[in-house]
Amino acid sequence: MTTTGWTPVEYGRITLLRAANGGGYPYGNSLLLRGSAGTLLVDPSLALVEQAPSADAVFVSHAHEDHLAGAGAFAGPLHVHTADLPAVQDLDVLVAGYGLPEAVTQTTAASLTAEFRLAARPDAVGVPDGHRFDLGDCSATVVHLPGHTGGHSGLLIEPDGFLYIADIDLTGFGPYYGDRVSSLEGFERSIELCGTVDARWFGTFHQKGVVEGVGEFRERLAAYREVIGRRDEALTSFLARPRTLADVVAHRFVYRPHVEAPHVETVEARTAEQHLERLVRLGAVTEREPGRFQAV
Ligand SMILES: [Zn+2]
Repeated sequence: MTTTGWTPVEYGRITLLRAANGGGYPYGNSLLLRGSAGTLLVDPSLALVEQAPSADAVFVSHAHEDHLAGAGAFAGPLHVHTADLPAVQDLDVLVAGYGLPEAVTQTTAASLTAEFRLAARPDAVGVPDGHRFDLGDCSATVVHLPGHTGGHSGLLIEPDGFLYIADIDLTGFGPYYGDRVSSLEGFERSIELCGTVDARWFGTFHQKGVVEGVGEFRERLAAYREVIGRRDEALTSFLARPRTLADVVAHRFVYRPHVEAPHVETVEARTAEQHLERLVRLGAVTEREPGRFQAV
């Protein structure tokens, strides 16, 4: 995989390193915080591999390959939330978190080292919610936003008023909670928490980049949250007749039918499973006979 390079965009003391493709996967938009006492690089993407800025330390929002691809260029300490630390320290743990079938797991592991140039970081440091990176005249505080992964975290950068929310990415695709280590309800709580933060800028890792103003942000966050409701509605109407989880996976509720990738079935199944579990719990869907679900 070739790298695309990046261009700097300034927001106060924060520089967004905008990937040349706009930040679509496998690339992303990294952040560089320059304080009077140090420099923190956030989510070093694949776009940084050939032209890396200098930084004293690195913070990675969660253990996914696109957020770690550029980390190899930095010798300084690498921080991640403690819940995602094992996956950064050991690539087998990272790949296992996807919950893919055995054959796909092997090709995924090979792609992480060949295309994303990932290397295990046994030296990585775990940080808890509320951990504060003191950069002198500014600071970045870890905000635990689990759901996408168990340790997924943002950063609140002050006094600039910049909330970085990583893969709560505000895209039309909607929230992604399709890994073994993901949680639909955790993601919903994290979206709610983001909606309570008052900041000037809200930064995402992928295509949407930075949104300015709390009003604009909350509108986009609400539209993003609604994708979860639409998945519930589509699933409920598909279950007008009794169906199995395999039927639901084949019908697709996350990816469009033309999307072909080795992880699609696993993600559809993990996503549907979480929606079904909740709809059954709420009494909107019933398990007619073992493994066959129908809307009530
Ligand atoms: Zn991710």
